[in-house]
Amino acid sequence: MKAWSIMAMTCSVLAVAAAVVAGPFYGDPPDENHPWAVHDDNRPQPPVVTPGTCSTQEQAGKPPSDAVVLFDGKDLSKWESDKGEKTKWIVKDGAMECVPGSGYIRTKEQFGDCQLHVEWAAPKDVKGDSQGRGNSGIFPMGVVEVQVLDNYNNPTYADGFAASVYGINPPMANALRPPGQFNTYEIIFRRPIFKGDKCIDPGYLTVYVNGVLVQDHTSLEDGGGGHKNRSKPRPFPEAGPLKLQDHGNPVRFRNIWYRPLPPRVSQGGTDGHLTAEAATAKKKEIAAAIREDSVKRRDPGNPLAEMLRLMESLQYENQPAAAAKVKQMADQYVESVQKVPANRLESKKGEIMQVFSAFQFMTKFKFLPADFAPQAELQKIIKAQGWDKKKR
Ligand code: MG
Repeated sequence: MKAWSIMAMTCSVLAVAAAVVAGPFYGDPPDENHPWAVHDDNRPQPPVVTPGTCSTQEQAGKPPSDAVVLFDGKDLSKWESDKGEKTKWIVKDGAMECVPGSGYIRTKEQFGDCQLHVEWAAPKDVKGDSQGRGNSGIFPMGVVEVQVLDNYNNPTYADGFAASVYGINPPMANALRPPGQFNTYEIIFRRPIFKGDKCIDPGYLTVYVNGVLVQDHTSLEDGGGGHKNRSKPRPFPEAGPLKLQDHGNPVRFRNIWYRPLPPRVSQGGTDGHLTAEAATAKKKEIAAAIREDSVKRRDPGNPLAEMLRLMESLQYENQPAAAAKVKQMADQYVESVQKVPANRLESKKGEIMQVFSAFQFMTKFKFLPADFAPQAELQKIIKAQGWDKKKR
């Protein structure tokens, strides 16, 4: 291998030092259930989403930039009747309105877990009582009802209240506006998940009404409730249409959009805490990406960047070939440092201390053997230079 350029390495001290301090040899490393280290620079950055704007009573707001818009006040092109025909619901003044007797409507699109935003208004002209006043319903995947009902000064059975998970759980509060005014539902829907006949996740609904939390991760009890019937376990498909109910009242809806949610841990999702099997798979994926990146950093004039990156990959997967190469590069690095006259080492202090610190981290967490020779050799140099003593 070509002799290392001392000059180039000295110039790279700052860059290498910054990389070491910022990430790979810093926080607690990946473990059995966590594919990421604490403060891991390999963890993807959150995607940028431009927030929407809030609605007013007069005007609907704008959805966030990554939302799938289902109704923007203009037309019903994304909707059809529950029988797959053209719906008879109408669009008026920026809202869609249920035409009593015309039946449920559903989205042509099918989706599952989501953040769902819906705004609705009960008729200003108050008629009926209990379940007969301003009744409609929001059915994620077409089967579980988040109740829509004019409960402004209108009592009814609690588990059929507005924002109840119908037949299962009443809302924690009644935060409705008077009839005629728009209410905002912010819904987080997680479908029940089955493995064969066994339910491994009962499904959940979280609901805010006009910004007030009324359902806090309420269990769907393996299937979701219904009219008069206790929830029964039932396998859910991965996706279904969103349905809105025709319960005989001209309820209006506007500004309907959703954002799909990522898979959960039970589905092998990419949450921070995974099953051991999922974490191992994810760690292998991260290690492969780092090894690939280490090759891109190859520079005969400055092999440190490649060595440190390859060494970092061992935290995710102890691949024998990568471990052998790290050992070889570390030996060569130590050799190059040993060739520098003792009275000229001061200029390399920062770099040597950083590399030593990285070796210490790797041996401490057993990613490198406790008797890793390059670490011991660097320690000798550090002691000889007196860099291990604190300055008074
Ligand atoms: Mg209803």
